[in-house]
Amino acid sequence: MLLPKFDFYEPKTSEEACNIMNEYGLKAKPIAGGTDLLVNMKQKLLSPAALVSLSEIAELNKLEVSDNAVKIGSCFTISAIAESAKIEKKLSALSAGARSLGSPLIRNLATIGGNIGSARPAADIPPSLIAYNAKAVLKSASGERTVLLNDFFKGPGFTEIQPNEVLIEIIIDIPDGRYGAGYMNLGIRKAQDCNIVNVASFISLDDTNEVINSAKIVMGCVGPTHLRAKLAENILIGNKPSEKLFEQAAKSAEAECKPIDDFRASASYKRAMVGVLTKRTLDIAVKETSLR
Ligand SMILES: Cc1cc2nc3c(=O)[nH]c(=O)nc-3n(C[C@H](O)[C@H](O)[C@H](O)COP(=O)(O)OP(=O)(O)OC[C@H]3O[C@@H](n4cnc5c(N)ncnc54)[C@H](O)[C@@H]3O)c2cc1C
Repeated sequence: MLLPKFDFYEPKTSEEACNIMNEYGLKAKPIAGGTDLLVNMKQKLLSPAALVSLSEIAELNKLEVSDNAVKIGSCFTISAIAESAKIEKKLSALSAGARSLGSPLIRNLATIGGNIGSARPAADIPPSLIAYNAKAVLKSASGERTVLLNDFFKGPGFTEIQPNEVLIEIIIDIPDGRYGAGYMNLGIRKAQDCNIVNVASFISLDDTNEVINSAKIVMGCVGPTHLRAKLAENILIGNKPSEKLFEQAAKSAEAECKPIDDFRASASYKRAMVGVLTKRTLDIAVKETSLR
């Protein structure tokens, strides 16, 4: 399959990229690793008049880790995330998501910005980022704005990113006190397969280190965007972690998700697996709280 014709730009700064995006309006698309966009273009689902490559913009390839925050440039690759000991130490669920994505060849090209920008409900990176309360920094020729990832996804393929905007970086503030998170995905095969269900769970403990004071459970593949299991989160908050509590939260997540029957699995199987993955990711999260 041949690619349609397009103009190609390779700006060196985000300002230059934003100016080109502004000129073309709806007719230009940013391209990072191209593992999603080029497939869509070859399949004639998209035919932008211009591609604005982001890969030569140094500021988009950065990783900054401090005691308070982790900042990841939008062009940081999935393999770089998977291999980063600094990210594993602070955001192990994000590392787990990165290790689950595609194959080594895909991970070497694919970027965190592209995974978010493609807005697939089955994508491996958004659940952990939403669970960690991550923010996205968007830039256009007229300035910058910050959006919580929780409010970012609008439907399959649709996000908060406007046609003249570029996603610059993802910021994750490190929570105070003890916290932990887990990510798990389920596919038919172990690699190179679209997920049937994926779940990320996050908990943090209060000053006594005994009671859960905040919780997030994020479910993928069971709705048009990643969904929060808010009733399950409320079951956890204010209580001590226990098998029984996590089983109750898992049951609630099962009831809260909105799966459909498709060729990958039946809705009832996906619902049951949301429960299993919620319980398992909460087990991982609580284990991690004791290591901090
Ligand atoms: C064989 C194969 C296996 C795959 N397996 C998985 C998998 O297991 N899990 C998974 O989640 N995904 C998977 N994918 C999908 C894809 O690889 C990922 O979503 C990847 O992270 C996309 O990143 P990219 O840099 O290649 O994005 P691109 O293809 O460059 O871009 C994707 C979209 O995001 C937009 N975009 C990219 N960067 C920015 C930015 N900085 N600002 C604004 N918009 C931007 C683009 O305009 C485009 O619309 C797979 C793809 C293939 C081909």
